[in-house]
Amino acid sequence: MLADLSFDEMKEYVKKIGLPTFRGEQIFDAIYSGKTLQEISNLPQSLKNIIEKDYPNYKIKGKFESKDGTKKYIIEYGDGNIVECVLMKYKYGYTLCLSTQVGCRMGCKFCASTLHGLARNLSAGEILGQVFLVNRDLGGSLKNRYITNLVLMGSGEPLDNFDNVVKFIDLISSKRGLNISQRNISLSTCGLVPEIYKLLEKDYNITLTISLHATLDEIRKTIMPIANRYKIEEIIKACKDYYQRTNRRVYFEYTLIKGVNDSDEDINRLAKLLKGFSFHVNIIPLNNVKERSLISPTRLEAYKFAEKLKEKGLSATVRRTMGEDIEGACGQLRNKIISKESK
Ligand code: SAH
Repeated sequence: MLADLSFDEMKEYVKKIGLPTFRGEQIFDAIYSGKTLQEISNLPQSLKNIIEKDYPNYKIKGKFESKDGTKKYIIEYGDGNIVECVLMKYKYGYTLCLSTQVGCRMGCKFCASTLHGLARNLSAGEILGQVFLVNRDLGGSLKNRYITNLVLMGSGEPLDNFDNVVKFIDLISSKRGLNISQRNISLSTCGLVPEIYKLLEKDYNITLTISLHATLDEIRKTIMPIANRYKIEEIIKACKDYYQRTNRRVYFEYTLIKGVNDSDEDINRLAKLLKGFSFHVNIIPLNNVKERSLISPTRLEAYKFAEKLKEKGLSATVRRTMGEDIEGACGQLRNKIISKESK
């Protein structure tokens, strides 16, 4: 698929089919502008026929707008698989939350993305496609980029699709591409320790975010199967090493679930665990997923939890909720569509 190619690889591709370099530039620019093959005006039909089988055929299948302005897009790939991505408008620009896999195999108990398991990985170009299509939908193009920030926090576990995700980061931050600053990219993981070290070796300037959600391994195991493989302590050690190497503050996501991870002892344990490096804790009140029986705290309870963390000297805030009326949390909308289609 042509969206998987870097600018240099695209030039190689056109060379191989006997075309001059400028054709590669035209194709590359069209893909990065989110155009369909039909919409490209400067390519002859004969050439379009040749590249058609390789040209991206992802498209926006649906769009839902929340009262707060958050937009949720359903992206459909050539094989009929769908993922969702969420666009949030902030003062400084737009942040797009991207999916890295179709579904997920991590099995977290509170997460809708994992309800149907993993269908397949997305290629680098398919992840890029989400950015191209949404940027285009905002009226943008390669030269006119509206999206300033990216978070790999949609469906999927980015580090479970390591090679495609690093290729995506290389391409999206490339000068000849959309040139999104690595500093404006966050990668969220449930904590695959060996892959955190592999990521560290890449020396990116991206922000590492860890979905922690518990302070005891025994509790973490009840909500996150990955906790059977890696201990909280190993994850924190990897984060400290990541911080040492990159000097980038590490973020922790802590989805608050009533009666599971919201006690005063949790606060004490968090304070102890996170001692000694630069971090920030985002408290997320659990978004209800109707297939799951876990209980959400009130927003007030979440604020109280964050306040207590702050009293302990920790940097913590409650995550703003956006797009609740359009089922903005991870995998919720795809789940709804799949469940409807299978009825
Ligand atoms: N697999 C990655 C990225 C996707 S999830 C990870 O685990 O980090 C993005 C964030 O949303 C994670 O912190 C995840 O735990 C959280 N999340 C998923 N479902 C949620 C729900 N129902 N309520 C609140 N947070 C949720």
